[in-house]
Amino acid sequence: MNAKSLSAGDFIDARCTRCRVITNHTIIAMVGDTVAKVKCNTCDGAHKYHPPKAPAKPRATASGSSTSAASTKRSQSAAAKKLSADLEEWVTFSRDADPTLAKAYDMNSGYKAGDLLDHSVFGIGIIKAIFKPNKMEVLFQDGKKLLRCKL
Ligand SMILES: [Zn+2]
Repeated sequence: MNAKSLSAGDFIDARCTRCRVITNHTIIAMVGDTVAKVKCNTCDGAHKYHPPKAPAKPRATASGSSTSAASTKRSQSAAAKKLSADLEEWVTFSRDADPTLAKAYDMNSGYKAGDLLDHSVFGIGIIKAIFKPNKMEVLFQDGKKLLRCKL
């Protein structure tokens, strides 16, 4: 016999469509062995049952990027704003980076991938890649930008 056999009135963890987090719910309707409807014990909202684990979304990967970013997947606290992968990366490096080491941006200077850049408009960024003959991709808080540089 299954240890777990759910029925209406039982408590279950589910994703609340209103709270947008995993909260404790009370089952209000079952269809066979499947939980159909639940009521959130936090906001009292009744809605379809959404399992606590959100379905994995295909993540857009940066084209041509071979960096295996150590994907530190934390349990999604839904209260936290969803960060884009780029912003997450920026936050990670800027936390460890020493801004005093950043080189002021000058389109007539040469740079290399991994250098910190201090841009008058975009702020601190990290150089992700250099493209011949005179472009570089820099990750700023706003996202990736292509900037001119000298090789
Ligand atoms: Zn709720």
